[in-house]
Amino acid sequence: MQMQDSAYLNQHQDNNQKMNKVYSQVFKLIGVCLQILFMGLYGVINYSMIFDIILLHHQAYQSIALTVIISTILGFTSLNTLFNYLAVCAISPGSTFEFPVVNVEQIQQQFNINTCSKCRKVKPPRSHHCSVCNKCIFKMDHHCPWINNCVGHFNMRYFLLFLFYSNITLILASIGYLNLTFNSIFDDYLNQVTFSVNVVAIMCYALSVAMSMFSLMNWLLALKGYTQIEYWNKKIPTPQDSQKQITFEHANCIDNLNEIFGTKVVYKMFLPSFRKQPEDGVTWKNCKSNIFQQSLQDISNNPNYINTTQLQYKNKENGQNKKNQFQQIQQNDHDIFQLTDETL
Ligand SMILES: [Zn+2]
Ligand SMILES: [Zn+2]
Repeated sequence: MQMQDSAYLNQHQDNNQKMNKVYSQVFKLIGVCLQILFMGLYGVINYSMIFDIILLHHQAYQSIALTVIISTILGFTSLNTLFNYLAVCAISPGSTFEFPVVNVEQIQQQFNINTCSKCRKVKPPRSHHCSVCNKCIFKMDHHCPWINNCVGHFNMRYFLLFLFYSNITLILASIGYLNLTFNSIFDDYLNQVTFSVNVVAIMCYALSVAMSMFSLMNWLLALKGYTQIEYWNKKIPTPQDSQKQITFEHANCIDNLNEIFGTKVVYKMFLPSFRKQPEDGVTWKNCKSNIFQQSLQDISNNPNYINTTQLQYKNKENGQNKKNQFQQIQQNDHDIFQLTDETL
């Protein structure tokens, strides 16, 4: 009877895993389609901005200075939109698959730290499991199908800047289209329009309103130091949150932004960068209860723990210089993962 139950349970788990895999692949495929759609929209709006806004304004006002100013501002915001979009798509938000570590089952019992029930890896504070990426993401904000990637600790900056610059571009383009529509100076030129101004203009108005609200929400949360998951699930850790034994201090807005942008200088936050952030995504300096940090420290003192540096040295000695330092090692039928010195 027990064997039947166990077989049924295994079958059920297998089916669940298959369903999750299908769900993840379908979602990823939709993500690729949305990425292509975004690039198409970006191309159409930029084409229209050059030929319907910049050139028409130049013909109507006959001012080189004005044309240079409009082109420079629109070029700067548009190129920053593209850079930050490509960066947020390409840069990993940070996950436990890149995070080193430890014999999950033993360590969990021994040190009482959280592990993910789905990917069965140690789950650092503020990380969440993404069913599409199928891994736990550091300081996960949300999975965005438009970028086909999760937004988390290491790519949050590019996501916020993408929202900011795309919004500014759309608002400036909308002002340009409104000027075309209501200024009689353009009457003689509108028949030269190379693209349907009305369609792109309406698209810009609608997108700028929608993006403004979404950007505002994301920037306010960033200023407060919260992720969307923490906010919507009302799991914002508070000093009274004794059950979790982990609380965060969210200081002032600049410190919260420093956690994302790696600088406290405001103008530098808005420039393209690959700057290092103060937090590693695993341990948090503003975490009041250091239970997780303490557990990691205990793990490093555990005889089962294998230091990456030692392992690389051993590998070199054996002539097997393995490139992947986070490679899983089988030891005594347990999965042992490695922890780098930098992580601690
Ligand atoms: Zn997980
Ligand atoms: Zn994801």
